[in-house]
Amino acid sequence: MCKLINFVFLIFFICLIPKYNANPTSRRFNGYEDVPYNAVFDDENSIDGSDVIDLSSLGPEAYGLPNNESGNAVAAWSESSLVNPEELGSYAEGDILMPPHEGRNGIKEESFRWPKGHIPYSIEGSFTAQEREIIMKAIADYHRLTCLRFIPYSGQKDYIVIQNKDTGCWSSVGKLGGRQEVNVQSPGCVSKKGTVIHELLHAIGFMHEQSRPERDNFVTIRYNNIKSGAEINFKKANPQHSNDFGVPYDFNSVMHYSEYAFSKNQQKTIDPKVGGVKVGQREGLSRSDVRKVNNMYGCKKEEPQSGWFGNIFQNWFN
Ligand SMILES: [Zn+2]
Repeated sequence: MCKLINFVFLIFFICLIPKYNANPTSRRFNGYEDVPYNAVFDDENSIDGSDVIDLSSLGPEAYGLPNNESGNAVAAWSESSLVNPEELGSYAEGDILMPPHEGRNGIKEESFRWPKGHIPYSIEGSFTAQEREIIMKAIADYHRLTCLRFIPYSGQKDYIVIQNKDTGCWSSVGKLGGRQEVNVQSPGCVSKKGTVIHELLHAIGFMHEQSRPERDNFVTIRYNNIKSGAEINFKKANPQHSNDFGVPYDFNSVMHYSEYAFSKNQQKTIDPKVGGVKVGQREGLSRSDVRKVNNMYGCKKEEPQSGWFGNIFQNWFN
């Protein structure tokens, strides 16, 4: 028996050794462990960001102008709320807003990835020092975990402006061309780093997790509990126009709605089919979010804890 215990401890320590040798400049982060700090400066990027993002699965309701009604809803939000602030807007699915476009149908059917994963940005508006810090932490997470690079704006043609007008939390999907806005109203949309990360993920090119075509295998949508008129926010993406980038459905995605999104009666609108899972976290990028970003942008960055020993460690302790 004693020998058995010694053996188990030996295996445990063997698993720990390569883990700490592999990433000496690392720390626990967001449920990840040992994310390399110096990853932002590595040269393993091989991003091809020129591909088109198909927007045809977004309905015409995604196109319009910011409004103060959404801002008022976010102003009334507090951290003790059952929902996330970006679920409160009157925009498509709460926070997707594409600018009106003078095309044949008045809507634009496509946007683009950011070439080389470089996203020029500027921060405008009256953010407090603390709110700016939240935004910079969100950007730092992308730099640490993905090959994307947010580059301070210096006259580039295409860029995002992170602003805090009183119109709620919203963003368009993908690179539209020219100046495009990501609105994170203070204080509601900048009280959690994950909300900023969420809105930036839209601008990077991602939609909501629970709108994936296969979502009904993972969650039950309780239509009886949804506010009248908000049912449209729960439609599924057309499988022909969506891409999961080889990453399975993720309850823990920062792009997943909360369980009470658009509820009219404090009852769940999204009910996971798996016991014990929580949805709607806004702490930061999940492991699958990172994978999806890196797959979309052809990033060759290795995952934290990859490798034979890392896998054993993950299987045992995650
Ligand atoms: Zn969103």
